[in-house]
Amino acid sequence: MSPTIIRNVAGLRAHVAQLRASGKTIGMVPTMGALHQGHLSLVRAAKADGHAVVVSIFVNPTQFNDPKDLEKYPRTEDADIALLQTLDTEVVYAPNAREMYAEGFATNVHIEGITDSLCGVARPGHFDGVATVVSKLLLQCLPDQAYFGEKDFQQLAVIKRMVADLNIPVNIAGCPIMREADGLAMSSRNVRLSQEGRKNAVALITALKRAAQAIEAGENPHNLIQEEIANILKSGFDKLDYFELRASDNLELLKQLDRPARLFVAAFIDDVRLIDNMEVRAS
Ligand code: AMP
Repeated sequence: MSPTIIRNVAGLRAHVAQLRASGKTIGMVPTMGALHQGHLSLVRAAKADGHAVVVSIFVNPTQFNDPKDLEKYPRTEDADIALLQTLDTEVVYAPNAREMYAEGFATNVHIEGITDSLCGVARPGHFDGVATVVSKLLLQCLPDQAYFGEKDFQQLAVIKRMVADLNIPVNIAGCPIMREADGLAMSSRNVRLSQEGRKNAVALITALKRAAQAIEAGENPHNLIQEEIANILKSGFDKLDYFELRASDNLELLKQLDRPARLFVAAFIDDVRLIDNMEVRAS
């Protein structure tokens, strides 16, 4: 069945009320469109949990610190809707910027601490934009559960903190990273890579895997990370924002593997910023 396309808050609330009246629970998947199998894995997870699924598609201008990145962000709504139809998505909520940010809009949701590192530093204002738009989407829809990918692990942590702090009555589910056959994390930005850039981009996951294995085997994280940064730069990447080992819960920087941890990387290739992360298991 084709999903119902809704473009405003009142329509969304009315439709969600109807779904609830017919006994359904609601799972929400917030996205910026240009959907790929990573997004669809979130929709499948929501379906598997038995929910009627609302997918939002909104390229949120306030989370782009770089206007060129916003301009170049792929927009493929018709193809997105066709993909969502194959998964029996009940609702596609695709508001325009005016609906989300009415004239006079003056609210900013800022989460402290967990945004003071990684993408929070590399992309000033990014997480304020994310937190503000996600709080709006959750309050507009009020789903039972909302699904986010571990691909954006810091974002997931920020949203969990926000939902707890603001008592937003929605469960937040984190879902594993979906990857291409060669290991590159799926991303809407991958379509912007040149053929060569796409091939070279595999260096990110190669570096993450090698570093994770060596750290798990007891080697010194600092030295390894320096080596892998050099490898990434030799493989066609122009610049790195970070490559760091951090605690999985509060994202504190770690010098050694003394608690559950993850490696986080962000780097530029072909002027495209790619991010990835990987769990590092303490023995
Ligand atoms: P975006 O459209 O990039 O804002 O992403 C929307 C949601 O899809 C976010 O929760 C992302 O973490 C998630 N997502 C994006 N790429 C992947 C991936 N490769 N695997 C799993 N989830 C993903």
